[in-house]
Amino acid sequence: MPVTAREILFHKTFHEWGERMPIDEIARKKWLAIPESERKTLEESVFCSECYVTTIVDYHVESIDFNIVLKGKCKKCGKDVARMID
Ligand SMILES: [Zn+2]
Repeated sequence: MPVTAREILFHKTFHEWGERMPIDEIARKKWLAIPESERKTLEESVFCSECYVTTIVDYHVESIDFNIVLKGKCKKCGKDVARMID
């Protein structure tokens, strides 16, 4: 059956809605479910292209392909860094 433009629009909207709101909330909860000491270790082992291993600051939690991803800044140089939690 051919896919109509309306269906494509629906999937696109659904996908964007899913990506921005509820999934991020789930990701945030998953992240907060990790023990604090473990979270700290993960925050402190983020790869930065400038500093190699750094601490992530000012980050937020996202969900990408069922993994939690932290997106923020390098504590040392301020570059954008991200860390996948699996
Ligand atoms: Zn850095």
